[in-house]
Amino acid sequence: MKRLIFAANWKMHLSPDAARRFLDVFLQGYEPADDREVWFFPSAIALEAVVRRAVDEPGIVVGAQNVHWELKGAFTGELSVPMAKEAGARAALVGHSERRHVFGETDEETGRKVKALLDHGLTPMLCVGEKIEQREAGETLTVVERQLAVLAEYEPDTLERIVIAYEPVWAIGTGKTATPRDAAEVHAYIRGWYADRGVAPEAARILYGGSVKPDNIAALVSEAEIDGVLVGGASLHPVDWAGMARAGLD
Ligand code: PEP
Repeated sequence: MKRLIFAANWKMHLSPDAARRFLDVFLQGYEPADDREVWFFPSAIALEAVVRRAVDEPGIVVGAQNVHWELKGAFTGELSVPMAKEAGARAALVGHSERRHVFGETDEETGRKVKALLDHGLTPMLCVGEKIEQREAGETLTVVERQLAVLAEYEPDTLERIVIAYEPVWAIGTGKTATPRDAAEVHAYIRGWYADRGVAPEAARILYGGSVKPDNIAALVSEAEIDGVLVGGASLHPVDWAGMARAGLD
C-alpha cells in the first residue's frame, strides 16, 4: 500500500514552547491512518521538544532541517548527525532550496550530508527543483538530474531509504503551485531515474512541495505519481495542518 508522507517544514518558526502548544492543538485533530505518516521538521532548538511530545503518537516522524556532514569539530552554528539522532531525529532535510539559494549549499555538500545521514541510519529527504528561469528555458529535468546525481553511487536498497521532495523554487512561499499534472511529469522522471538504478516504482518515495495549502492538497495527493507533500507556510497552523494531514480520508 502507498504510504503518503505529509511533511511540515517549520523553517525558522516555532520556538520550543510554541512547538509544544502547536502539538497540543494539532494532536486533537490528528487522525493516524495506515496509509500515511506525518513528519515534522522543527528548528534545531525545538527538535527535542517535538520528539518528546510526539514520540508515542503513531505515524509521526521528527527530523532536522539541516545537518553537517562532519561528526564533530570547529563548525560554529552547525548540528551533527549524531547530535540530531540523540535528540530523536529520524530524518533530515537536505538541499532545501533555501539552503541552496540563500546559504549557497552546493551539490557536493548535499551529497556529503546524504551520506552522513545514511551512515547513521537516518532518512535523508533530498529536495530538488528548478528556478523559474530554468523552467522557462526548458531546463527543469536537466537541473533535477544534476541534483539527483549525488545519489548515483548508491545501490537500490540504499536509494529506497532516501525520500525525494520535488520543490520547484518558483512555487516555494509564493502562492504559485505546480499543477498536479506538471508535478507528476517531474515525479515520473525521478521515478524513471530510480527505476534505471533498479528501484521498483512503488519503492521510490517522491513528495511535492511548493505552496501546498488546505485548498489544493487533496488534488495533489490524489495524483498517483505524488507520494506526499512537503509544506512550509501552511504547516504552521495546527488546525489547518491537522486537516491537511487528513486529506483524502474524509
Ligand atoms: C518548503 O519550505 O519546503 C515549502 C514548500 O514552503 P511553502 O509550502 O511555504 O511554499
